[in-house]
Amino acid sequence: MVVTAEQLAGCVAELVRIPSVNPLHRGPIAESAGPIGEAAIAGRLAERLSSLGADDVVLDDVDEGRPNVYARFDGRTDRLVVLDVHTDTVTVEHMTDPPFDGRIDDEFVWGRGALDTKASLGVILALLEQWRADGRTAEPTLLVVGSVCEEAGGLLGAGRFRDWVHERGHRIDQLVVAEPTELAPIHGHKGGVSIEVTVHGKAAHSALPDLGANAIEAMAHVIAAYEAEHRRLQTIEPTTELGTSTLSVTEISGGTGGNVIPAECRITIGQRVVPGQVAHECHERLIEIAHEASPLPVTCRSLLPAQPDGTFGSEAFYQPPDGDLVRTLAGAAGTTPTVAPFGTNALRYGGLARELCVFGPGRIDDAHQATERVAIADLVRLASCYEAWLTPT
Ligand SMILES: [Zn+2]
Repeated sequence: MVVTAEQLAGCVAELVRIPSVNPLHRGPIAESAGPIGEAAIAGRLAERLSSLGADDVVLDDVDEGRPNVYARFDGRTDRLVVLDVHTDTVTVEHMTDPPFDGRIDDEFVWGRGALDTKASLGVILALLEQWRADGRTAEPTLLVVGSVCEEAGGLLGAGRFRDWVHERGHRIDQLVVAEPTELAPIHGHKGGVSIEVTVHGKAAHSALPDLGANAIEAMAHVIAAYEAEHRRLQTIEPTTELGTSTLSVTEISGGTGGNVIPAECRITIGQRVVPGQVAHECHERLIEIAHEASPLPVTCRSLLPAQPDGTFGSEAFYQPPDGDLVRTLAGAAGTTPTVAPFGTNALRYGGLARELCVFGPGRIDDAHQATERVAIADLVRLASCYEAWLTPT
């Protein structure tokens, strides 16, 4: 039997009705709807996946009350494939629509998370239910992963899942990260590093500036040096469709009064890392530039959590578009593989699977908005893509 549009929409709506706002996006509207965070949806998901015949279901605490869910469905072969769907959503405080009603009309399922990214979770649940009813089994062994902490907080769920895979020595053949990609498989995106730079000067009366050391003026040298580095990076010929590495200063603060020489100035600087660059080397280079350019003492700290090996930053993720996974999904969806300007959980999955891509229904531009919806027609298309991937004939 083919799974119906009603089944697909129903499964997505059920997930939308379980609030799972990322704790860093909490607010009064979210709080009035129930507990903040991923605990409720993780619990429900674990229950649902067990009832669908999962051979193993694990709740893995990433942070207090924030578990990842891993559910394994043994296939006809032991080739291991993974579908990773983040369970958290962004804030609902600016929504003009009821965030958690999960209403279904003729064309859409509505509510926070419908598009980003409960659609993919709902579709795989509906398919597993249908396959169970039909007595069918997927060809590969499928691990469904519900990961926490994607929308804010440093991809902790994805990082924990990667470590869990390494601890168990699992070998993943194919890994799909669910995000809205208009059903075009994303076969690469840039990585990144981000640091905060603080210049330390000395306060004085601004009528007597020579008695102080002006941290803002010193920071101007640092910013000019970063601009020069950005321009240098643009002259390097890109090796992939991802283009060049870029560097941007995005925040600045400093000074305590109009007549005080500023003792401190602080900026945030980020770099988008491309294939061929080593993220922790980019991180070190950003620190070096600040020290070289500033006439005053400088301190730096990473704004991203450390990797398991103690280094900072995420490598780019890239693979050629002609692999089996990307070709299968693009073929089933009738789309063209592409690369993305935004980052996803795939930033934590370098080297974890033989093949990796990001794939899901809807447009990323429509995510995080005052209203959120996913087209039921896209759920139907996604179901046929997962069928082509998991139950090839
Ligand atoms: Zn997302």
